[in-house]
Amino acid sequence: MSRRYEDLTGPEIAEAIKPSSILLLPIGAIEQHGPHLPMSVDTVIAEEVATAVVAACGEELDVWQLPTLSISKSNEHAWSPGTLYLSPETMLAVLRDIGRSIATTAAQRLVLLNGHGGNTTHLGTALRELRLAHGLKTFLMHPSLPPAYGGTSTEEELGMGIHGGLNETSVFMYLRPDEVDLSGAERKVPERLAENTHVKFGGSVSFGWLSNDFDPDGYIGDPTGASAELGKQLFDNAVAKLAEAMVEISTFDFGR
Ligand SMILES: [Zn+2]
Repeated sequence: MSRRYEDLTGPEIAEAIKPSSILLLPIGAIEQHGPHLPMSVDTVIAEEVATAVVAACGEELDVWQLPTLSISKSNEHAWSPGTLYLSPETMLAVLRDIGRSIATTAAQRLVLLNGHGGNTTHLGTALRELRLAHGLKTFLMHPSLPPAYGGTSTEEELGMGIHGGLNETSVFMYLRPDEVDLSGAERKVPERLAENTHVKFGGSVSFGWLSNDFDPDGYIGDPTGASAELGKQLFDNAVAKLAEAMVEISTFDFGR
């Protein structure tokens, strides 16, 4: 049976979506990822991870996959012609509208599965806005936590493989091998930043940045050693971890 929300009929929504159901919204982006990757990377990864998580635990935990929100808040790539992005205000408005729509079903749990680090702050805001407006239990998960938010990236990239770097390129290579061309890829690691104790990605002091602040090519990391094997490993680990997290989400409650 399909666990895609949009495959249900209108009347089926009323029967299939229950108070115990979990709605999972993959969120991607359509933005430049350097010369080696297509614009679709974040959208493809978010959707493929969501599909695999639902395949792993959808039946057991009553998870329904919402259609992927592919265009999101990518204004750090506004300098790059063709990047499709929502303003921060629009992004929050879209999330409010999706939450309002979801609140017309019986579901009480909404999980955002975010494939684009540039959304993370706004998604955190949306969790509370939707809880306040509709009483929904709201959650945010990432296939891998962005380094700018305390996630890890490889030592070779000095922890700064944050956009089009080794891990992301490898995962995409595993999912869409024909769409990666490493011939133009180089190491683009902002070495100077790594010397800082506080003002750095994941440091105690955050800073505003655009993806071309570090290098005009706009990717940050070192994709040169990317491989589909590493990508498969990262993908499988992410899916296993998120499926495990979904078990906790399914029973999560407030109170002591
Ligand atoms: Zn990306």
